[in-house]
Amino acid sequence: MEKEKQCVGLAPSRRLLGLPSYGKGRAGQAQVFRHRLGSNEAPDGPCPSAREAVEAMFADAQRYPDLRGETLSAALAKHHGVTADNIAVSAGSIVLLDQLIRAWCDRGDEVVSPWRSYEAYPIVVGVSGASLVEVPLDADHRICPDGLLRAIGPRCRVVLICNPNNPTSTEIAPDAIDGLIASIPRNILVILDEAYSDYAADAQTVAASPGIRLRRHPNLVILRTFSKAWGLAGMRIGYCVADQSIIAAIQCVAPPFPLPGPAVAAGLAALAEPNIVAARVAMNTAERTRMSEGLAAAGLPLAKSAANFIWLPVRERAEALTRHLNDAAIAVRCFAGEGVRITTGTEADTNAVLDAAARWRSFE
Ligand code: PMP
Repeated sequence: MEKEKQCVGLAPSRRLLGLPSYGKGRAGQAQVFRHRLGSNEAPDGPCPSAREAVEAMFADAQRYPDLRGETLSAALAKHHGVTADNIAVSAGSIVLLDQLIRAWCDRGDEVVSPWRSYEAYPIVVGVSGASLVEVPLDADHRICPDGLLRAIGPRCRVVLICNPNNPTSTEIAPDAIDGLIASIPRNILVILDEAYSDYAADAQTVAASPGIRLRRHPNLVILRTFSKAWGLAGMRIGYCVADQSIIAAIQCVAPPFPLPGPAVAAGLAALAEPNIVAARVAMNTAERTRMSEGLAAAGLPLAKSAANFIWLPVRERAEALTRHLNDAAIAVRCFAGEGVRITTGTEADTNAVLDAAARWRSFE
């Protein structure tokens, strides 16, 4: 890896040295798997109206799209009961996270975050020159609010919280999150990554919570994505909701034209059909329950999931379990030495996982 970063004798910034690579160990790159349960995608394709909207917008592909994604921001503002200057959109919420960290942090600053969490965090923080202060999860693989508060020192500029947490699937309850944010000093930016919030609560609560939280916590940014429950990972649509001064800072580092026209059209069409998301979430909940119960019955340890994936903290057996599932044509995400993350998909996906899990004991 270090060699790759040498770039034919030229040396890029030293900040890149030692950074982990995103997607390292990702199953499914070289082999084609029948069950693609490695990336927390929704199993269903885009809703028909999104497909039509994309095709219609593509007819105008010779034109630049919105300078700042204004059309989608306005629709999202309406959806969440905030104003359009409380929203920024980009090609995936990961891009917004990168922009936020670059806008907030200088070399030597600290970003405090629970760990284990989303594997992109150390990369995004490392590229900015800041340091990630990792706060261990509790014994149930959940965020530990007291530990997080204790880790906030004088160099801390940002607290970054993923809820429900990837890859451990656990959530902390809304009132506990609010209590935690209220205890963080107001001069620190709090980023709440809610990529999986659709799976944790009912649709109305999910839509209303950013507006309510923004009024309570002016130092809060909420990150959301269309990549999970909204089924549009390939269209790369992410957004954030925050005070207008925070949005203005993001716009300082964001290049113009953040989203292609067809992506904007797909997002608008999906937003107009919240019932489709609700039905998909209900299906996910049913499959998640079935998969969780079956895996527990097969003797595997698992965390209580509030997302579209299940976390098996099998530690040193993670690679062997991953190989076993891969042999059954199931792609999963392996965290060597820590655990295996399995996305919940269709009924057939659950059946395949449970069949393989039943064979795992004898295999062991
Ligand atoms: N946050 C978390 C916790 C995620 O798991 C992911 C994607 N796996 C993202 C952000 C990035 O999502 P997007 O596709 O919107 O960039």
